Amino acid sequence: MKSKAKKIAVVGSGYVGLVSGACFASLGNEVICVDIDEKKIALLKKGKSPIYEPGLEELLRKGVKQGKLSFSTDIKSAVQKSEIIFIAVGTPPKPNGEADLSYIENVACQVAVEMNGYKLIVEKSTVPVQTGHWIKETVERHAKKGAHFDVASNPEFLREGSAVKDFMNPDRIILGVESEKAESMLKDLYKPLKATILVTDIKSAEIIKHASNSFLAAKISFINALSVVCDAVKADVEQVALGMGLDRRIGKGFLNAGIGFGGFCFPKDLAAFIRISEKVGYDFKLLKAVEEINENQKKYFLKKIEQAIWNIQGKTIGVLGLSFKPNTDDMRFAPSVDIIEALQAQGATVKVFDPHAMGRAKSLLKNVQFCKDSYGVCQGSDCMIVLTEWEEFKQLDLKKIKKLLKQPVIVDGRNIYDPATMRAAGFRYTSIGRS
Ligand code: NAD
Repeated sequence: MKSKAKKIAVVGSGYVGLVSGACFASLGNEVICVDIDEKKIALLKKGKSPIYEPGLEELLRKGVKQGKLSFSTDIKSAVQKSEIIFIAVGTPPKPNGEADLSYIENVACQVAVEMNGYKLIVEKSTVPVQTGHWIKETVERHAKKGAHFDVASNPEFLREGSAVKDFMNPDRIILGVESEKAESMLKDLYKPLKATILVTDIKSAEIIKHASNSFLAAKISFINALSVVCDAVKADVEQVALGMGLDRRIGKGFLNAGIGFGGFCFPKDLAAFIRISEKVGYDFKLLKAVEEINENQKKYFLKKIEQAIWNIQGKTIGVLGLSFKPNTDDMRFAPSVDIIEALQAQGATVKVFDPHAMGRAKSLLKNVQFCKDSYGVCQGSDCMIVLTEWEEFKQLDLKKIKKLLKQPVIVDGRNIYDPATMRAAGFRYTSIGRS
């Protein structure tokens, strides 16, 4: 199903902006990806992706080759050449958990002064409810009198690690709109994806995104809380999750016990939703508990390491996996950072390996030994711990690992190995919620 090609500017060329831009271009639209980060744009112009995301680099190259995709630091010309402007800049947390919307405001001001005709300005970033209202006010304040524009909300649900696939095959597309023109332009843009489209008002669309991420985070905290109970009575959290998940009302997804969630979405969106609820007069205690359980899970994992090797002081711990989840190089709010810092604070020497996140990790982790592979991590370590469930860790030569470790001790924070197999192979193996 073809749609009329659109001229699009995507402001903010990060995980969401780049993937959205590349995918819109692959659907035949003319897309300019804009960023203030000159290094990022220079890299993109050389045909290189600044982030690791399966399939993205090929899609970027294809878009450029077909003349559909370009990269720029010049927001003025991007706005003037485009009819739809997606805002995909960051909305990081302030120290109190509230979303910092200054990047969004900046873009709204810049777009306003450069508008040279009708523009549809679309929030793609995850923003608290009422941001659409503020964007509209800001644009009205800064644009020429009588400027013709609409604001819409189109939250993004892609997951890092499968972002291109998710963007092209969404479970649903949410369009928060205030005008028929905005609705029909966005429906036409997304027509080729043949996905379910839900049209709402802007505020409801904004809440749908925060509510979805909070609900998913709650599922993770629920299963993590259950893992503690399972450990205490020697039940198996994976069997419990399976038994629960077979109920279609519950579903199997997001019921993997582990060391807690991280990344640039769940922790910050949960905190922002708690703060915005407070602002409008509701104390969202349920979500506060979700946050607390997530923090506790890291401490719970550290206790497991202590139970496995007794004193942390003076020991060498080998860490497999740093990114907050597999198939991404993203280290933002990765639980690995807190866990490694806590081990170092207790006097451990830490060796690490991650297939794709080492580059980003180097600026975050101090005094750790970066190894060239998993075997290097295990060489001479008192214990191996698993913090990210990369597929390649599941395929390791366990006999070799056993020989390399000082003691055959593994504490698995992602339940990637089978406890019985590990014990039969001679390991002292601990995982989460499984005995
Ligand atoms: P990111 O940090 O990877 O990218 C944001 C980009 O915006 C950066 O490259 C930055 O340089 C650029 N930027 C900042 N100010 C700018 C300006 N004035 N003009 C041009 N560019 C500017 O962030 P991200 O992970 O892509 O997330 C962006 C938004 O999307 C956030 O609100 C996030 O919550 C949301 N989101 C993220 C994901 C995800 O998986 N990462 C998924 C769904 C939604």
